[in-house]
Amino acid sequence: MHRRHFLGTSLLAGLATQAFGATKEEDSFDFAFLTDIHVQPELGAPEGFRQCLRAVNTLATPADFVLTGGDLIFDALDVGMDRIREQWKVFDECSKELALPVHHTIGNHDVVGWSAKSLVKPTNQDYGKKLFAERFGLARTYRSFDHKGWHFIILDSIGQNKETLDYEGWIDDAQLDWLKKDLAATGRTKPIVMVTHIPFYSTWHQVVGGPDLHLDGKAIVRNLHTFRKLFDAYNIQLVLSGHGHVVERIEIGKVTYLQGGAVCGMWWKGPVFGKPEGFGTVTCRRDGTWSWKYRDYGWKARK
Ligand SMILES: [Zn+2]
Repeated sequence: MHRRHFLGTSLLAGLATQAFGATKEEDSFDFAFLTDIHVQPELGAPEGFRQCLRAVNTLATPADFVLTGGDLIFDALDVGMDRIREQWKVFDECSKELALPVHHTIGNHDVVGWSAKSLVKPTNQDYGKKLFAERFGLARTYRSFDHKGWHFIILDSIGQNKETLDYEGWIDDAQLDWLKKDLAATGRTKPIVMVTHIPFYSTWHQVVGGPDLHLDGKAIVRNLHTFRKLFDAYNIQLVLSGHGHVVERIEIGKVTYLQGGAVCGMWWKGPVFGKPEGFGTVTCRRDGTWSWKYRDYGWKARK
């Protein structure tokens, strides 16, 4: 009798531990943030990208999905269509390594020809964002989704300066209309992660050029201040960006602006400000808090 009781108790304790374990897993989830990959055939970049994806696949705490922060290929701004297609081909081949769902953000270097030095004419059918949007089966280059109580907004922060034909950081009116509706539908309490290739704020330029350096429209989203107050009514926790290849964290009030380093480091030529080639993982908790870690995936630049 006593022994049966004891077994029963330990069985119950075992079940309770399992249930607690399951509950614990449900309390949070991880996603990986890979930005500024800049895939090209040279400098071992395909091997480097694959090595990074293997590190993502084998994280000790598995990620539910991957977000990219843009600049997936080395450059589509200043080169011809053959070179652009060659880079996407390498990107596709390498991406087969990834065993997780992925949501892509567009970067300036993914846009065909938006540069004063462009080799692709505006009359070319592939000029602009068409290729990127088609490649990922997207009706448009911005969108949102929900995951386990969190809301994710992927912005397209790439505009074009109509005078120079260069890219600039810009959220256009159609996207802003969509964003206002998307936020209203999300409500004031649900925690939100936003991704924008070009950062909202950035300070590393001043570290290099002096504290009074004025940033141009290529460094930040130039029209941010016309709509930023809109965000105050919502629970925006984290604004992820890429573009600068730096790891940079700015906390203002309840919002953290985080530039997520670079998979390619300094364009596959080594670390940036001493930070290695890497990617981030974010743990999102049920209580609306989160934490972040930048991870070196062990790549060494080839000389
Ligand atoms: Zn960029």
